[in-house]
Amino acid sequence: HTAERGSTRTVTTHCPYCALQCAMNLTVRETPGQETGFEVEGAAFPTNRGRLCRKGNTAAELLKNRGDRITAPLIRSRNAAGQRTGAFEETTWSHVLDHIVQRVRQIQQERGPDAIGVFGSGGLTNEKTYSLGKFARVGLGTSQIDYNGRFCMSSASKASTLVFGLDRGMPFPLTDLDGACTILLLGSNVADTMPPFVQHLEGARDKGGLIVVDPRRSNTAELTADGAGLHVAPAPGGDLVLLLSVANVIIEEGFADEDYLTQRVNGVAEFRRSVSHWWPERAQAATGVGADQIRSVARKLGHAARAARHGGDPVYILTGRGVEQHRDGTDTARAAISLALLLGLPGVSTEGRPRGGYGTLTGQGNGQGGREMGQKSDQLPGIRMIAKPGDRAHMAQVWGVEETSIPGPGKPATQLLHTMGTVDEQGVPKGVSALLVHGSNIAISAPDAGRVIENLRALDLLVVADFFLSETAEEADVVLPVLQWAEEDGTMTNLEGRVLRRRKAVEPPPGPRSELWIWSELARRLGSPAQFPVDPREVFEEIRDATRGAAADYSGLDWDLIDAGHAPYWPVPSSTLSGEESLTGEPVVGTSRMFQERFAHADGRAQLSAIRPRRQATPQAGELTFTTGRVMEHYQSGTQTRRVQALQDTHPEAVLQVHPATANQYGLVEGSYAVVENAQGAMVGVVELDDGIRADTIFAPFHFQGSGTANLLIRGLTDPHSSMPEFKNTPAVIRPAVQG
Ligand code: SF4
Repeated sequence: HTAERGSTRTVTTHCPYCALQCAMNLTVRETPGQETGFEVEGAAFPTNRGRLCRKGNTAAELLKNRGDRITAPLIRSRNAAGQRTGAFEETTWSHVLDHIVQRVRQIQQERGPDAIGVFGSGGLTNEKTYSLGKFARVGLGTSQIDYNGRFCMSSASKASTLVFGLDRGMPFPLTDLDGACTILLLGSNVADTMPPFVQHLEGARDKGGLIVVDPRRSNTAELTADGAGLHVAPAPGGDLVLLLSVANVIIEEGFADEDYLTQRVNGVAEFRRSVSHWWPERAQAATGVGADQIRSVARKLGHAARAARHGGDPVYILTGRGVEQHRDGTDTARAAISLALLLGLPGVSTEGRPRGGYGTLTGQGNGQGGREMGQKSDQLPGIRMIAKPGDRAHMAQVWGVEETSIPGPGKPATQLLHTMGTVDEQGVPKGVSALLVHGSNIAISAPDAGRVIENLRALDLLVVADFFLSETAEEADVVLPVLQWAEEDGTMTNLEGRVLRRRKAVEPPPGPRSELWIWSELARRLGSPAQFPVDPREVFEEIRDATRGAAADYSGLDWDLIDAGHAPYWPVPSSTLSGEESLTGEPVVGTSRMFQERFAHADGRAQLSAIRPRRQATPQAGELTFTTGRVMEHYQSGTQTRRVQALQDTHPEAVLQVHPATANQYGLVEGSYAVVENAQGAMVGVVELDDGIRADTIFAPFHFQGSGTANLLIRGLTDPHSSMPEFKNTPAVIRPAVQG
């Protein structure tokens, strides 16, 4: 994959941003005496077929020699009151690592091992997410580790685990969607967030079978125009009842696949009972969707699924963060999966063709790998459970430590961040006193961001590893400069569960180091009995051992095979070829379609149960519903994309999307600033009028900093099953900003 042409080389790798992991050719031109030049173009791979979005096309901007890259460890002192007021000063690696170790030891001696917290990311490679979990548990000896995927995939992950017995976000190849006749897409605006994905919706759109559920007429919802499908716009928080009502019609009108349910699904009677009273006329008020439209959705799905049973084109139900980031996000994803089961979708037709299925669209680049490599508060690598003796024993053997030395479960992310640095009435710490943050910008991305910033300031030690001085790094005692995507090797797992090779294309500037090296050095200084390899390939081999026999089994992977362009689907218990397509058109290893004949529960059956919506917070008089999401130009907290001029020029600051009638009511003018606020906090954005958004809803992207931080308004409410924060349904008021 590297073609040397003098000082020019082209490396085939994958995009640094989202979970579609589009393949790209990165060309590096090195000319003596000149700045290194970079070019990016899309490469052949089934998820993107040569296409890239604007983010991918400009991804190499961040590899250039720029003034804002952190190139040496930074440290700063505190004043007499313990506040970090000093300017950052550059220091050496040896000094900064000794300093961290000395402070960690001191804090742990005073308050025990769990006084140190670790926060990881779904953007790190598999090798790093694995090593971070190991470093926390056997390097630092703390149970307090979680990661930003808790804010992203936790609800769908929990729902898939409960119903299917296993969480592989999309348990079929993405290209299967191409042949679908009907796709129900809930809470995902792929036309903006993953534009190359849209080509996989075109088959269903051409057949008039694309159904998009979104309170906004997003660019994805626009794809349904002109008879290409349906756009359903429930009130934020109405998705669960909408799904239950669609299920009610499916059952009442005889579309349920009774043979399939008998043969493959448990708990059907309980589920049936719980949806029996959500007939469309009753659901109307709770969802904001008319009874006729609910029936139309159900009938469209029902007829299509019936045909799919007998060899017709398949039917898919897909969810994204729009329906998952709620206090009832797990139940909503569970309802979507339950609907797929009622229709008998995961499986094969009488003709031997896939009937369809359910999938969730993972967001972060390594959102899938990141949630199965052991950085989740309750899990060990391979989706082994930290509280399960057999799972602990396996990892103790792989890590070469006593099983008793592996701590138990820690606090999930919101709880970890909302208790850190705080004390109770007696002055006893309620959470960690120090935090090590890797690959995440929690000052922007966490719920109740104002509280998170306050807590970060109250910590005795904050260490942040990043390439740029993110808003979280600006709060730190110590900043560790690390390598970027194209500066080192590794593997990622995309939204289909395919393991891909991310390749080094360019030498990093002197100064930054890989996190693998940092954790190895810290662990050695802390006297850890475990070894921490620095070479990604060595870590990859350890992952194979760690996940052997586990649910997310990577043991059959072969680095050389992946390096040659194959992208296996996990579980991969052996390196046997399975006859699927690959980057090179050759067969790959792994399991591309899951649940065709059995589910992952011990009895092979899926598990339905009753779903009862909890009462939603109703906006009070004068309040609207504030909801958040993404725009095409920016990724996550914007640490990277806000530094790419072309992206920033197009979308430089937070916008507030409001309906013209709402603007009229509250005296808001297109292009002027407005404030949205509630008891939690306030944000400022530029008013953008859009008659495609519901009049009772305000939308803001969450990528921006300072007064444009949308998450300042988000309350600390979480889903009881997944600990997912409620990002998408927050009561708030809006008013014109006072100028001047
Ligand atoms: Fe990168 Fe995602 Fe855009 Fe593809 S869709 S180019 S992976 S950001």
